[in-house]
Amino acid sequence: MTLRRRVGVMGGTFDPIHLGHLVAANEVYYHLALDEVVFVPTGQPWQKADRAVTDPEHRYRMTLLGTAGSPFTVSRVDIQRAGPTFTVDTLRDLHSALDPVDLFFITGADALAGMHTWREPEALRSLAHMVGVTRPGHELGGDVPASATVLEIPALEISSTMCRERVAAGRPIDYLVPAGVAEYIRKYALYL
Ligand code: ATP
Ligand code: MG
Repeated sequence: MTLRRRVGVMGGTFDPIHLGHLVAANEVYYHLALDEVVFVPTGQPWQKADRAVTDPEHRYRMTLLGTAGSPFTVSRVDIQRAGPTFTVDTLRDLHSALDPVDLFFITGADALAGMHTWREPEALRSLAHMVGVTRPGHELGGDVPASATVLEIPALEISSTMCRERVAAGRPIDYLVPAGVAEYIRKYALYL
């Protein structure tokens, strides 16, 4: 019998990564006794085609900085793939790289509610177990797939949108994002 590794997958734009992402990943890591959580910054997110998303290399490096010193890793599968990111492709690529593995795809309440609009929902369910986490301001409503695990986590009312808006307005984001990420944003004058 092969022991399959249990790996969480935290997909996101991470523009920038903030403590809400890290607490979500860590809660799932702890409660589901995972071996690792892989953060996967998106290429060009199809849900966000309406706004300019920061260069993937900046988002990748901020995600590396934000996860340094944690049991979490960062994957380039989505930023390497041409075209918009679909979760089903992410999970297939991660299986190719990591098999034999059990994947646990982590989403906040807002993203989970829209899951029925994702490409190949049936395939998704066979590629990963879905884990929904609570998020302030978003109801975990009726759209949650019956097979998903739902975890209540400490409420951090932080979003990347809020961090970008604060930087643009000259307000601090220290303690909302990891220290190295705040420094990186200052160094490259992002979000001004
Ligand atoms: P944006 O405001 O740009 O949409 P965001 O803060 O929602 O950014 P994303 O990169 O879109 O961050 O989210 C990645 C994943 O993390 C999603 O599944 C999202 O639901 C989840 N998430 C983000 N912030 C939180 C939070 N504060 N608590 C719980 N889950 C969160
Ligand atoms: Mg979001």
